[in-house]
Amino acid sequence: MNLIERDQNKIWHPYTQHKTAALPIAIKRGEGALLWDENDKEYIDAIASWWVNPYGHSNKFIADAIYKQLTTLEHVLFGGFTHEPAVILAEKLMEILPNNQQKIFFSDNGSTAVEVAIKVALQYFFNKGEKKTTIIAFENAFHGDTFAAMAASGISFYTQAFQGMFIDVVRIPVPTKGQEQESFGALREVIKNHNCAGFIFEPLVQGAAGMVMYEPESLDKLIQICQENKVLTIADEVMTGFGKTGKFFACDYLTEKPDMMCLSKALTGGTIPMAITTFTQDIFEAFYDEDINKALFHGHTFTANPTGCAAALASLSLLQTQEMKDNVARVNKRHLAFQKHIKSHPKVTTTRVLGVIFALEIQTENTASYYGTLRNKLYDFFIENGIILRPVGNIVYILPPYIITDEQLQKVYEVVEKALEIV
Ligand SMILES: *Cc1c(COP(=O)(O)O)cnc(C)c1O
Repeated sequence: MNLIERDQNKIWHPYTQHKTAALPIAIKRGEGALLWDENDKEYIDAIASWWVNPYGHSNKFIADAIYKQLTTLEHVLFGGFTHEPAVILAEKLMEILPNNQQKIFFSDNGSTAVEVAIKVALQYFFNKGEKKTTIIAFENAFHGDTFAAMAASGISFYTQAFQGMFIDVVRIPVPTKGQEQESFGALREVIKNHNCAGFIFEPLVQGAAGMVMYEPESLDKLIQICQENKVLTIADEVMTGFGKTGKFFACDYLTEKPDMMCLSKALTGGTIPMAITTFTQDIFEAFYDEDINKALFHGHTFTANPTGCAAALASLSLLQTQEMKDNVARVNKRHLAFQKHIKSHPKVTTTRVLGVIFALEIQTENTASYYGTLRNKLYDFFIENGIILRPVGNIVYILPPYIITDEQLQKVYEVVEKALEIV
């Protein structure tokens, strides 16, 4: 049996209907923005393997840091213990986070970072003896697949089997161009009619919805409304964090600052699963008490795994080099040039660019479903042409590793343009 047959015998894949899905591609090796399968077919990883990999596959600098940590202290429990990689990582992160973020909490993945933020928002008011139990979220949001994160997510594909089993979440429209006042109005209404504890949002870009973008001024306004009404704000930067929008964090475009931030995906440069939720001092203090019941009783076995922290520290130092800043600016500039070239194509309805993120929407007769025929046709075409892209319905987006070369990026653009001929 070959690897794929053995896989199909034993493995259940994420987001996969095994009866109808194509067989998985077995990847053997990666370097930079490239991956190679079993038959040595080369692919450009134009979505950075689900947005985790800014600095390239099999990055030697991060690998060396991981090896060094593995042979010094691979892991130690974090309840009642601490270690240098966690402390240094907290210090270094706080140098680049919005300056109201004063405490960090470790976990293992983006969903859990969100789960922690939502639990903290709810317990914050519980600890203060106030009854506030509703969470506000955007339409078509994606915050992960654990229960509270799923409750906050608005893409029905992921959540329909669990309707009626969630914490209270009320949804408001995203303030995309022309929808700003509707969004502000909806937020005021929700706050008036519910006891709202928190508002969670993907700042400036809704990733899983298809790189839907909105302006910082609108988010500033929404945060202000929350602040006026003592609703905690949670910026889910799991996708947008660590340079993707052209700044370290999407929140760096804002005047207002969120109360909490969720980080994961690019945190360790795509090497080791790890996540962080960050908090203001005020939130920390709502849990700081003689009463043990006011503590945050949440934790995971691998909390603050030293090897993960070492990978995150190496990644952070790469992010802060001039070379990486230049790479982000270079990819952005090329995206803008491609946008200019493609936006008047008769099959293209809209295009969007922010930082290293590019998206275009293809004209369709009906609304294209999330995993529909158009999406599958496009996906197959990209794979045939050696490009890894996962369209969302009729939306094709590119979010490459920052180190992708100009030639590789050019090839991605050419294949995307060719794809417009087959739809
Ligand atoms: C991917 C993602 C998550 C979930 O992260 P996982 O590591 O897949 O659990 C949460 N929020 C946003 C914005 C994401 O893009």
